[in-house]
Amino acid sequence: MVQEYKLLIGGESRDSSTGKTFDDINPATLENLATVQVAGAEDVDRAVEAAEKGFRVWSDIPAPRRADVLFRAARILQERKEELAVLMTEEMGKVLPEARGDVQEAIDITTYAAGEGRRMFGETTTSELKDKFCMTVLRPIGVVGMITPWNFPIAIPSWKIMPALIAGNAIVFKPASDTPMLAIKLVEILMEAGLPPGVVSIVPGPGGSVGKSIVQHPRIRAISFTGSLDTGKWIMEECAKTMKRVSLELGGKNPVIVMDDADLELALEGVLWGAFGTTGQRCTATSRLILHEKVKDEFIARLLAKTKSLRIGNGLLPETDVGPVINKSQLEKIEKYVRIGKEEGATLLLGGSRVDPGLPGYFFEPTIFTDVMPEMKIAQEEIFGPVLSIITVSGLDEAIEVANNTKYGLSSAIYTENVGTAFRAVEKLEAGVTYVNAPTIGAEVHLPFGGIKGTGNGFREAGTEAIKEFTEVKAVYIDY
Ligand code: GLU
Repeated sequence: MVQEYKLLIGGESRDSSTGKTFDDINPATLENLATVQVAGAEDVDRAVEAAEKGFRVWSDIPAPRRADVLFRAARILQERKEELAVLMTEEMGKVLPEARGDVQEAIDITTYAAGEGRRMFGETTTSELKDKFCMTVLRPIGVVGMITPWNFPIAIPSWKIMPALIAGNAIVFKPASDTPMLAIKLVEILMEAGLPPGVVSIVPGPGGSVGKSIVQHPRIRAISFTGSLDTGKWIMEECAKTMKRVSLELGGKNPVIVMDDADLELALEGVLWGAFGTTGQRCTATSRLILHEKVKDEFIARLLAKTKSLRIGNGLLPETDVGPVINKSQLEKIEKYVRIGKEEGATLLLGGSRVDPGLPGYFFEPTIFTDVMPEMKIAQEEIFGPVLSIITVSGLDEAIEVANNTKYGLSSAIYTENVGTAFRAVEKLEAGVTYVNAPTIGAEVHLPFGGIKGTGNGFREAGTEAIKEFTEVKAVYIDY
């Protein structure tokens, strides 16, 4: 018997109004891990009502005391780290060490946000007038909606939820339908840590129905969304109608530039990990390798050898380097892009097919295309799978031009031993994040995370920026 999960609204487990459920499938084994009730518009209403009540209680608690709840939640996450990591590997496929990293990120952002509870600083200043004092204070926004992806099932919700909570907001949370169980566990942990009822409610279900109800809800005051560019644009348009604040993180086509003076061994490790870690399913994944022509042949030969040695399989096994992709439609999307790459005239150097490691799940070979031209679809569109496109260039200016030639601007990296080259890249790369001599992945929780151009709309997750996203600034004048 697989367990059935209900909705968590107002601190209670409740049956949904739709009477429908969906299955939570292990992408490696295709085993059904759980069934989860699908929330409906009525349930979103109930969650908003509960959140409004929760907000009154929570926003009245001083931030350093709200922090106590977050510190307790961080301790529970720490105690249950291994159990949650194993569940994550089962639920979405990433290899166990990465799943542990995902839970660790949640612990880190929770602790970080809790610490910020003692730093909710406003500003003070003088007035133009005599006997008058001016200052600013930070206030929470109210009820906020969160819609999160499946690739970081605990870390990304935590990047959003913890800053919003420390700032005093209440939350209606729709997790990705591929990873509902971990999201439910996260909310249960917050409740166990002492979060008052209603402050976070969870309403699983499809984006097209539940997500839509949240985005269009007149009493939800802000939305934080991580997902695709098209959905992000739709959300922004909808939010304009009800004057909601909206923060978007919408993917990338992240380049790594490897210069002719790079430490090639370091660059190889970085490209391999950036392109094929998490089976390429990160917004920050390295999907374009911009390679200096002088090191092209040697680098590609060494990259091929290393990529061939990657072992594909069940992420729970210690020998596995690359787990499955998340689901059938994602697998088909990757296959479609491999076809497109071939039709566009790129050379398929490695991979390009499904693979069967003795399990029925959604496994795809790490795939490398070379002779890729900057305008090709495989160099422009986000694939979200283990597919790397190699573009050759003859110098730094061309490398930067190619790197910037996409609609996205999330992460970027350059490998070089020349400090001048590194700084020029830092200045010129159009991205929210630039790494020097490190892969495009691996963001830390105390720095702002997010992108420019088609990746985002100016807000950032993590760091103090995320807390700003969930606060209003009030100017206060005191005559004395
Ligand atoms: N934590 C990830 C990284 O920096 C990014 C999250 C994402 O892919 O959305 O690699």
